[in-house]
Amino acid sequence: MHELAVAANLLDVVLKTARENGATTVVTARIRIGAGSCLNPDSLAFGFEALAAGTPASGCRLEIEHLPAPVTCPACGWEGERLDVAELVCPQCEGHPLRITGGRELTVDTITVE
Ligand SMILES: [Zn+2]
Repeated sequence: MHELAVAANLLDVVLKTARENGATTVVTARIRIGAGSCLNPDSLAFGFEALAAGTPASGCRLEIEHLPAPVTCPACGWEGERLDVAELVCPQCEGHPLRITGGRELTVDTITVE
């Protein structure tokens, strides 16, 4: 399960940041997910919650901000952005599937600690 591996990485970053700030409890973690990452936010949050149990991030609230992914049409060269990458049809020449050219990042924006 891809999300579980990502959740483990995410938890590492959050815990490391908390340690560096001398925090004992992580209250919230605000993260950004690019639409091109194809991550399921629910699975990610679930995995994070399970892995965080027993750590300073236990019970931490995950706030997920979604970023649109840049897309381009290989047929006509149209470029744009899509937040939902489930249906990618070029608005200019129609029917041609758009190519996702980025938005695969997952970054920790801010964490709130106590
Ligand atoms: Zn097109």
